[in-house]
Order: sequence, then C-alpha cells, then structure tokens
Amino acid sequence: MNFEPTARRAGFSTTSVHAGEARQKPNAAITDSICCASTYTFESTQSILDYITEKQDREEYGRYGNPNEKVVERKLAALDHAEDAIIYSSGMAAIVGLLMAKLSSGDEIVFFDQCYHRSREFCAKHLSRFGVVTRQVKTGDYAAMEAAINERTKMIVSESPTNPHLSCIDLEQFVAIGKAHEVETLIDATLATPYNLQPIDYGVDYVWHSATKYMGGHNDLLAGVICGSKEKLEDVRKLRGILGGINSPHNMYLLERGLKTFALRMERHNENGMRIAQFLANHPRIEHVYYPGLESHPTHEVAKRTMRGYGGLITFLVKDADWKETGAVIDACRIPRIAPSLGGVESLIEQPLVMSYFDYKPEERAKFGIADNMIRMACGIEDADDLIADLKQALES
Ligand SMILES: *Cc1c(COP(=O)(O)O)cnc(C)c1O
Repeated sequence: MNFEPTARRAGFSTTSVHAGEARQKPNAAITDSICCASTYTFESTQSILDYITEKQDREEYGRYGNPNEKVVERKLAALDHAEDAIIYSSGMAAIVGLLMAKLSSGDEIVFFDQCYHRSREFCAKHLSRFGVVTRQVKTGDYAAMEAAINERTKMIVSESPTNPHLSCIDLEQFVAIGKAHEVETLIDATLATPYNLQPIDYGVDYVWHSATKYMGGHNDLLAGVICGSKEKLEDVRKLRGILGGINSPHNMYLLERGLKTFALRMERHNENGMRIAQFLANHPRIEHVYYPGLESHPTHEVAKRTMRGYGGLITFLVKDADWKETGAVIDACRIPRIAPSLGGVESLIEQPLVMSYFDYKPEERAKFGIADNMIRMACGIEDADDLIADLKQALES
C-alpha cells in the first residue's frame, strides 16, 4: 500500500486521507464503495481449493471480515505505526476479543486502577469465571505495578491519558517493566489517539482505541480497534472470526470517511482543550482543572515529553458547589450537549457522579476520585470563543 511519493514516512494527515486505500478502485470511483455482502462467491471447486492451499487474500464469509473493514484496518495500522490492526464492532468488543485470545485459566493481568471501568469489570467479574486473576494498582505507581507481577502474569494494562483524571503514563517506564518481567503491555490510548501519542514507538505490544470517539469523530458510530504486530495479532484475528464482533460495511464506510479529517479535527480538539482549560483555570468559580496541558497537572511533564497535544477532554471542579449546584452549571450551558462519550465534533458535558457513579456509595466514589462538584467536558470542534463565552455565562448565572 505504497501511496507515499518518497521513502519518507508521510505526515499524519496524508496518511489519514490516503493510507490503506487502493489508488484505482472499482468504477474508477475516488471513494471506496460500500460492499454489502454476507458471503463471497467462488468460480469453481478448484478456486476454493486454490484459496485454501495458496492462502489467497480474498473474502470468504462476512464474519471473517469485509473489504470496507480491511481498508480501515490498514489505515489505522498506518496511523498507529503498527504492522496490523483488527477492527471490532465497539471498543469493548475489541478488548474482550484481545483478552479472550491471550489469557487462559491460571493467568494473571495487572491494571492501573484508572483504566476504563468496563474493561476492569470484564476482567474482575467475567474473566475470573474462567480462572483469570485480575490485580489493580494505583495509577502511576510503577513500583506497585512491578510488585504485583508474578510468574503467572501475562499482561499489564493502562489507559493514557486516563478518564476523568487525565493522568498520563510514562510509557518508557511502563514498557521497561513489561520487558524486564517478560509480560505483554497494553495501552488504551483512546483519549490520546495516534495524533497525540504513539505507544507502539515506545515498544508497547498492543494499542487499544475506542474508535467510537475521536476516530469516528461525529458521534454517529461505534467501533474499536487493537493495533500490534502481525504475529501477535494472528490468533486474535482468528478468534474474532469465531466471536463475530465485526462491523457492517456501512459502519466502516462512515469510519473511513471520518478518518479523512482526523488530523484537522484533532488540531481543533487540542486547541479548544488548551484554551478552555486555561480559561477555567483562571475563573474564580473553579476550584481545580485536570488537563495534562496545564503545568498544574501532576503528569504534565510526562505529557509534554510524549504527546503532540493534550486532546479535548477536560475535568474540573466547581468551587463550593454541591452536586445539585454543579448540575445547574451544566444545565445552564447552551452549546455543549449533555451526554456521555467524547471525541465527536459536538462538545459534550456531564457530571460523572450523575452519569456514571449515581448508584455508588460516597466512599466508593471517593475511592475512584469522583467528586460531587466534578464536571467533565469533551470539547468538540466549535469555536473556542463561543465555548468560552458559553461556559462563562453558565458559571456566572
Ligand atoms: C468509550 C471508551 C471505551 C469503550 O469503547 P466503546 O466503543 O464504547 O465500547 C474504552 N476506553 C475508553 C478510554 C473509552 O473512552
């Protein structure tokens, strides 16, 4: 798939637009057509035999993949500097597909505790039924991570940056621990995206993204991806063909289309994130802002060293507000829409206590660092001046 004019690696935006696509397509169309087929035909019995014995690269049956998925997989692998990428019907389907392929009864897995809660829940509540042991250590405590590893440990996992506290992981230390103990490493880089962070370049084995977020970018699809080496992903792809968490060609067309503007959108998400974080940090009604681009963030140095930009997600605390007064600030906003998720063109705002932790006991919320006066805003690509003016009127109303 050599679309590059020279041997040098093309830039991120050129890669987003062109990587993974054939230069000349059916009907001479510039776009990939949506290939709607649940099964694929063979000319003769001999052509089936040729396909099997020569391991021909062609389609067979829809559950094993489709042409629209393959274009997106090649594009995402190129963007993440990975040899291969496997796309799934959601981010969660992707992590379940990877872990089911890699972990067996008696194996152990260690998480930094700010990892996406459903991934930890899948391991703690469900993989445990198959004899897999899950351990969790405090995010960023590399010594505790190392201490939790034993001869049964197969994988260590972190998100970076984490949600909602935006802690960034020192990937050099993380990978060094994995290598020293011969355990595989997995990073959920959904919040960073390959535009801002390249975990594979640090030697991370598997990079996981919810493509539902910035990759799709328009709040209109769900998908997930695992990137890594061809060798490590071979059994994962085979298992996907059995588990069946694949994507419709229509969904993949939307993702491919969304990826064309990936770099442009990320530039704006980064710019809006930084400007709004700075505005909030200087506003008298704000107690604290979590944003890795601000020097006040405990992992700012790591973020500065490893990331191109800091993304569109901002978490902040409203000064002297109880949970109802905090909700009133959200309700007073006119531009951001009230919803979970992030990474789309529309800004979204929510109160973690209400949206994700309402049925938790106060002590449990405290353990997860979910404050009553916490707001999470996912900056979209609107004009920063408009978003700032809107937040200002909401905070001052
Ligand atoms: C949304 C999200 C996921 C899960 O992805 P889905 O596409 O919703 O299944 C995993 N990790 C992070 C950081 C996310 O934001």
